[in-house]
Formats: sequence, structure tokens, C-alpha cells
Amino acid sequence: MPSALETLVKILRLERQQGYKNTAVIGGLGAFSHKWIQDAHGQARKPEHHVLVDEIGQLLRDYEQIHSKNERHEAVTYMLERIMGRVQPTVPAPALETPPASDQVGQPVPPAAQPERLTERRPDPRKPPSRKREDRPSRQPSAGWKRDEVVSDDPVMGRPDRSHQRSGRTHRSAEPDIPPQPRLARPPRKPRPPLDPEAAADVMRGLNKEITVAKGVGPRMAQFLRKLGIETINDLLFYLPRRYDDYTRLVSINRLKPGMVATVIGTVRHAEIRVGKNGRKDFFLVLDDGSGRIEVTYFGQYFLVRQIRVGKQLVLSGPTSVYSGRMQMTNPEWEELDSENLHTIGIVPVYGLTEGLRGRTLRRLMKNTVEYWAERLPDYVPEATLERTELADLGWAIKNLHFPEGWDHLHHAQNRYVFDQLLLLQLAILGNRREWQSVPGQPLHVTDEFVESFIQNAFPYPLTNAQRRAIADIRHDIGLSTPMNRLLQGDVGSGKTAVAVTALAMAFANGKQAALMAPTGILAEQHYRNVSAALARMPGERKPNVALLTSALTSAGREQVYRGLADGAIDVVIGTHAVIQEGVEFRDLALAIIDEQHRFGVEQRRALRGKGTNPHLLIMTATPIPRTMALTIYADLDLSVMDEMPPGRTPVQTRVVEPMLRDRIYNFVDAQLEKGRQAFIVHPLVEASDKIDAASAVEAYERLQKIFVGYKVALLHGRMKPAEKDEIMAAFGAGQYHVLVTTSVAEVGVDVPNASVIVIEGANRFGLAQLHQFRGRVGRGEHASYCLLIPDSDTPEARERLQAMEETNDGFKLAELDWKLRGAGDLVGTRQSGQSALQLAEVMTPQLVEMAQREARTIYEEDPDLSQPQHHLLAQRVNMLHNNRSDVS
Ligand code: ADP
Ligand code: MG
Repeated sequence: MPSALETLVKILRLERQQGYKNTAVIGGLGAFSHKWIQDAHGQARKPEHHVLVDEIGQLLRDYEQIHSKNERHEAVTYMLERIMGRVQPTVPAPALETPPASDQVGQPVPPAAQPERLTERRPDPRKPPSRKREDRPSRQPSAGWKRDEVVSDDPVMGRPDRSHQRSGRTHRSAEPDIPPQPRLARPPRKPRPPLDPEAAADVMRGLNKEITVAKGVGPRMAQFLRKLGIETINDLLFYLPRRYDDYTRLVSINRLKPGMVATVIGTVRHAEIRVGKNGRKDFFLVLDDGSGRIEVTYFGQYFLVRQIRVGKQLVLSGPTSVYSGRMQMTNPEWEELDSENLHTIGIVPVYGLTEGLRGRTLRRLMKNTVEYWAERLPDYVPEATLERTELADLGWAIKNLHFPEGWDHLHHAQNRYVFDQLLLLQLAILGNRREWQSVPGQPLHVTDEFVESFIQNAFPYPLTNAQRRAIADIRHDIGLSTPMNRLLQGDVGSGKTAVAVTALAMAFANGKQAALMAPTGILAEQHYRNVSAALARMPGERKPNVALLTSALTSAGREQVYRGLADGAIDVVIGTHAVIQEGVEFRDLALAIIDEQHRFGVEQRRALRGKGTNPHLLIMTATPIPRTMALTIYADLDLSVMDEMPPGRTPVQTRVVEPMLRDRIYNFVDAQLEKGRQAFIVHPLVEASDKIDAASAVEAYERLQKIFVGYKVALLHGRMKPAEKDEIMAAFGAGQYHVLVTTSVAEVGVDVPNASVIVIEGANRFGLAQLHQFRGRVGRGEHASYCLLIPDSDTPEARERLQAMEETNDGFKLAELDWKLRGAGDLVGTRQSGQSALQLAEVMTPQLVEMAQREARTIYEEDPDLSQPQHHLLAQRVNMLHNNRSDVS
């Protein structure tokens, strides 16, 4: 096997991938050529082999003299073709009197001897390779290595590489000057055959088959895959890499530098098991590539001795280091040069694994699966859409998501994938909206006078303009017979409750029932107090009858509320989501308001609808979400944004404090407690397991009790029962505790105006939106308030994010910044989260979002039911999404 040629083919392909920048090997092709020429001559077995080596060697050396990409493209293409034996040599091979002596094999040629020996055989070095073609004899049998000699049984060289063949063929045809494709400006698209519904259905059936039908997947493997959430072939194809290792840097060993992540190719000169002092058996080898040697140790992997033998050609990829003056690698990825080099060359996918499943095994399985299926995957996105958006074909995208041919390819593949996610989401949402609004609601009308006098009476303060605008939006919506579907977004403390109260009053003025739902019992109680007080100040004779419905009610109490709702004695009910979920009957529910939950799922909506009529729906959230994103995840909602705070608030002062100064923070908190204030201390969720987190919260709680001696410290965490949480929160609200140690936001969504300081440990672990929510827990009263952030790691990114907290109190600005710095992962959850490098949110750029919205609308307007044949597959995918996400709202 002429491995010098194989190596070169890989390098040339890499060079092509990287856009002909002479970067495929460190130091450039020219520098690389010297060593390569030696190796290749050493391995040559026939005179014409030497001719080829010389010719190619010369082209390599001349490569850096060529400056135009076009010509470099031609040179590389030519060399590749030449090596594959598909092109004639540029000059007739001179007859060789004395073939190089066979004792040269493996022996370095003295450098001085090289140029001379090569001069006589090499083609005119001043002629750029592009022009050499003209001299080429037209069609003669190859004088170089025959294709089958080099290529047969060689998966690397024998692998069909169509893009290359294509450019090669064009290259030899009448139009020599096709532009090279150093950067893939636009992904290639294949014309799509007309859809054959039966064939497509067949493929879909195949895709949905259990993973065990795949070759090499036995019950044990299937079990591992199941742990990763992979049940079917389709699941496997869409199980995307978590990240990619960049092994695109092929380096000769003498050019390795410590700390570089590189790929080397060479021959194993030495291999042995070494037993360390601790008795661990390591595998040790020396790899030689002619330019130098490198020592490689696999800790604890002595069994490799059976697989890696002296004389084998290996590809190693990984970081390098220096140990006692010698270059070395530890535990690099390895594979034999003869294989496809799935694991060590190019951009290598790294998948999330589970115990017992090896990365190489999964990669191999993935490769086989992708090879087979990518071509067969029917593309569910209509061709017209792909035309307009210039996005890649599905099969091409899947292929390049798993095994990218280059970074540009990966980029296009990711764009296609993300676009699909957004498009499907949009279509699902548009479908829901249509369904939601297909049943009419009840138009509610109120006069200007009513609204004005209600506002005057109900609130002790004038409303902000933002509050007034939101009320006007709602009033407009509920006046229509299409049910309202509105999202009210307003920062913590912006006064959403007043808007909600006014909406409830408008429903009551129409003689209808209304409901307000909060995520926790304690918040429901807080709303109950505020809302019933405000509604009691309603002008006119009849005041609304307001009821509270939570799990804290006795069963007799609950029965009474149920009856009141059914017979209409109760006008307004305030409670948790239980209000709509437990088959509660309303006499005439016209308005439902959901507080502090920006995800209101399909099921909840169905439950609401089940109440007889189709009530108007208002969802309120304090989670600041950038507008573009809001338009995506809430595409079916109309949006009101309250961007103005009630006057007279002193903004919370925020400081980032080094962990070393924790004692000072405690002193500061102590001083606040001394003044009669209260404090929150937040501990982050560190482990994925809430059990462990609860334990660490308990530990913190015990520690803090010893620090704040003389004060009452309470603990609140996610493992507690709702009733227990409510009790503690209520006691804290009533001032019975001074310090509240807690782990998450949801539990502290309650008003404690006396709390003036919040300390957040591990602040860098939280999204900015979350931190901002926490901060909103203080500064709700007349006291100057403080938010102290203690990071537990110090990266530039963490610093920038936390500094932003110091600088602004604007939740939207913070959300935008977090989107930029960390991706949208903190803002939206996706089913893929934690699984792939391609979390929807991370690559979801505003451009893609807009593109998906536009396309979704176009498709939807054309065919809202997705019943036309070209949307058939699309409809299937949208349904799959429905089944997987209960939160598509
Ligand atoms: P959020 O939007 O976070 O739900 P709330 O409705 O709880 O905010 O209001 C926060 C505080 O601001 C409450 O104490 C409320 O009484 C007060 N508030 C609301 N609107 C105004 C206003 N226009 N002027 C002064 N204070 C207001
Ligand atoms: Mg609120």
C-alpha cells in the first residue's frame, strides 16, 4: 500500500477543504514536499512510480509560488487526479536507466542529492500547473499507478468523492476556468425527483423502525441507545454531535509544538506495555513519520497492545506536550491509516455518550446509518422554500451535521437544521392559533367612562403610560369575537397586576366570569388580597364576588367555590392552575389570565376551552425575551410590552463581589438585618440532581445559621412539598424569618417589601434573565436595596455578563446580551437541550428566525392544513413535533 500517496491525498483534500490557503500542513506544502518525496520514493516499486513522485513533488514545491486560488484549485485537482491515475502525466515519462536502488527504502536521501536527482525528471518548474494540461496527450492509458492498483480495497482512496469527480471532469472539459469553491458560499442542491408518496411512506416506515434493525445493533447496544433517547433510525439520524473536534491540522512530527492539537501520520516503531509505580499498566508506543518521532502513552489501556503493532501506520489526533525534553501525546485518538479515518482526520463529531457505549462505536454506527439514509431521506421542506432561502438539502445537511466536509459545510448544515426547527415550530404554532381562534369568544365592551373611573377608584396611584397602553390593547382584543391571545411582557415591578385587575373588572362589567391563575399557592393568595381589595373599590352598586381556590382549601371550602363558579355566584376566581385543570365548571367564563408563566401549553388551552366557551386569554410574564425571539416562540400571541417602571423607584444597587470578600458581605447583610430589613441568600443548582442540590442547600443553611446568630434563618428548596414552601414563604413575608436561603426563582416570586438585600452565590451559573428576576425580589418597598453577586469562576465572559448586571436594570438589554454571549438556551428550552451542540437557541440568529417566519407564513397562507401533496411530509413532521412537545403554544 503506497501510504505516502494516501497521506498526500488526505492532505490535498484538506487543502481543498480549507480553501487553498496552503494550510493543510503546518509550514505549507512546499516544506512538506521534502519529506514526502523521500517517503514516496522509498515506497515506489515501479519506474513510473518514481516519475509520478517527482512530478507531484515538484508541484508541491511550486505550490506556494502560485498565488491565485483558481490556479491552486487546478493544481490540487490535478495532483489528486494524477495520483488516482485518472490523468496523464504532464510530460512524457523519461526512460529511466537506473531505477532508484531498492536499498533506498526507508533511508533518508541526503538533501543535497535531491534537487539534482529530481531536476532531470521534473517538468518545467516555471510553468504553472494550469498550463500543463495543454501539453497533455489526449487519451492514453495511464502510465502512472493504475487506479485499481492504488485504490482497490482501499476505503480512503476508493471512497467516491463526487464533488471532486465533478470538478475534475469539468476541469478537463471545454471550459477550463470554472471558479474554484474554496469557500462554500451556497450549499449544493440536487434537483428533487417528483414525490412518490408510496416510496416516501416506505422510507418513513423504515425511519421509524426500531434501531435494532440497523446492522450491528444488538439488544445491548439498543439499550445504550435508548438511554440516549434513541429508539428509532430517525432518532439516531437526528442525534447530533455535542461538539466537533478539529483534526484538520495535519502536521509532520518535527513541526509539532507543545500544546497544539494536531494530527500526525506515521509508522509505529516501538510498542510495549509499561507498568507504572502504582501498578497501572499503560500502553506505550513510538511513532515515526520520517521527520521525527513522538512518544505516545495510553494510560491504563494496556490492551491496545493487541491492536497496535510495530510497523503499523497510525493516525493520531490530540493535544501534544513535552515531557523531559521529548514531544509526546497522551491518550490521543487513534486509528489505522487504512480505515476510513473516521476518528482522527478532519472535523470529527463528538457525541454525547452513556456508560458502556464508546464514542468510536457510536461514530461508526452513525457513519453507516448516515451513509445509507442521508441519500434516501425525503426532504419535507418544500422545494420552493429551499429555492427562496438558498438552504441545503436535508440529506446533505444531515451528512454534514455528522461528518462535516469542512467548516463551511457544517455552517450551512446547521443553518438548514435550525431553520427546520424554527419552521416546524412556527407552523405548529400557527396551526394552534387557528385552532384556538376557530371557536369564537364573547365580545366584551366597556365605555371609556367605566375604564377611567375604575382606574381612578381602584388604584392609589396614576397608571404609567405603559400600563395604559397595555389596557388599551386588551380592551381592543376583548371587544372582538375572535378570542384574545395576548402576551403581556413587563419587567418585575412594572405593575402587571394593575393591568390584570382592570381586565378582570371589564369582564365583570359585562356580567361575565373571569379567572386569574398564578404558578404557586402563595402567589395566588397574594393576588387574592390585592385584587379583591382593588375590585372592591369598583364604582357602582354591585361589587364582584372574588374567591380563592388553592390546594390549601378544605374540601368543603373547595366544594363551595365549585358551586359558586358553576351557578355564577362567584365572579372572579383566583388560584393556581388547578382552577382550569380539575374539571371545574363555570357558568360563563369569558376571560382567563395566567400570571408568571410564559409557557402555556396546548393541554392547558384545551382544558380552558373545555369550560364551555372560548375565553379571552391573557398571559403575563416578567421574563424579558428579545423581540425577535418572542415572535418565534410566541408567534401565535399578540404582544404588549411594558417598558416603563412606575415612578419613584430607587433602582437596586448591584455589585459583583469576589468570593474572598464573602465575610464583608455577611457583615453588610448583618447591618441590614440590624436595621430591621430581611435578606435572601440564593444558592445555585449545581448538580443535575435536585437531591444533591437540596443537600447542598441544607448545608449552606446550616452554615448560615451559625453566621447570622440571633436571627431566624429559613430554608426553601425544590424538594419541599408545595404546602411547605408556601408556609415558609408566607412566614418570611410576615417577617417571622430574617434570612431566607433558597435555590430557585419560582419559589420566591412573592412580594416582600421589607427585604432589602439579595446575595447570589455562583452568580455566573445563572442566566442574566434569571439573575434579573432574583434582583426583582428586592427593592419592592421604600428601602434602598442591594443585589450582591458572588461568582464562583472568573472567565472574561462571566465577568462581562455580571458587569452588565451592575450597569443596567433593563431586563430586555440583559436578555439581548445573554442571547449574544450564551445563546438563547437560558431563555427558551428545547427538547434537544443538553444533547447536542446544536441547541436550537444557540444558532438561532435573528436572520434565520425571520426567514423561518416568512416561509411559515407563506406556506400557511397557501395551504393552512398542509393538505397539498407537496406539504404532505411537512405535515407529518409538524405532527411529530406536536407529539414531542406539550409546550408548543
Ligand atoms: P409585576 O409587574 O412585577 O407583577 P406588580 O403588579 O406586583 O408588578 O407591581 C409592583 C408594585 O408596584 C406593587 O406594589 C404595585 O402596587 C406598584 N405599582 C404598580 N403600578 C404602579 C404605578 N403606576 N405607580 C406606582 N406604583 C405602582
Ligand atoms: Mg406580578
